[in-house]
Amino acid sequence: MKTICSLLAVIGAFAASVLAQGGPDHPSVTVHGQVYTPRSILARNMGTDADQTTQFPPHKIIGNIYYVGTKTLSSFLIVTPQGNILMDSTYERNVPVIQKSVSDLGFKFSDVKILLGNHAHGDHQEGDAMVKELTGAQVIAMAEDVDTLKAIKPGGKEHPIDKIIHDGDSVTLGGTKLVAHLTAGHTPGCTTWTTVVRDGGKDYNVVFHCSLRAQGNLTPALVDQFNRSFKVVRALPCDVPLGDHPAQYRMLEKHAKLAAGGPNPFIDKANCNLETDIMEAMFRATLAEQQPSGKTQ
Ligand SMILES: [Zn+2]
Repeated sequence: MKTICSLLAVIGAFAASVLAQGGPDHPSVTVHGQVYTPRSILARNMGTDADQTTQFPPHKIIGNIYYVGTKTLSSFLIVTPQGNILMDSTYERNVPVIQKSVSDLGFKFSDVKILLGNHAHGDHQEGDAMVKELTGAQVIAMAEDVDTLKAIKPGGKEHPIDKIIHDGDSVTLGGTKLVAHLTAGHTPGCTTWTTVVRDGGKDYNVVFHCSLRAQGNLTPALVDQFNRSFKVVRALPCDVPLGDHPAQYRMLEKHAKLAAGGPNPFIDKANCNLETDIMEAMFRATLAEQQPSGKTQ
């Protein structure tokens, strides 16, 4: 009896420590020589609380595309002669940070005519209502993310949605065309946006990746979604990979190179699929853990 009690105590202590750390941190995968676990990916994406809300120096990425987000939450401004497009409001408390970045670059926040989203999670789209209030922008949402978006209501504010789009639809303003590709899995309406920009007399394919990070139990429906999304993303023409978190496209490293002049570090065709490789490896390893028989779907 005494042995059983002490065994239970040990199990209890182990369970408590696992819970304190937010659950077990596995599987671990190695991609291009780097080891990743679910927790290391999350930490890399989110950084500290301060990183999520601190302005990152706003900068031109390429053509008419600018970075206006925080240290770990991306927000992109696409400037056109007919007004501007903002992609991702991030947390509501960040909207003034984004507003400052837009004006630091010499643009007017009130010129934002269209607000797009990457996916219906608070760290990317919680601030939509505030952006709408401040700019009057048209808020466009992927159909499959509408229900989740409507549940994001900071301070009880209704989530604005002015136009619903579907896979393959495009959004055009002032000569810039962005195409919405449904890459479901992380959320049902996770959207990878693509556009072509002209810079230095050449055209470049820009891919604003959506997260491909699998969460929780992989149901057969989710497995189908991710399998489809990995294929879709890998088939997209790409010269400039971007992502909803700067770490996904190594923004820090690339931004540091800007000061030195030289070729645009954001043109990085060789690494267009790097983040997809990491997420797909993690997805396959997670699936293998769930299906110890080795059965694949
Ligand atoms: Zn997310």
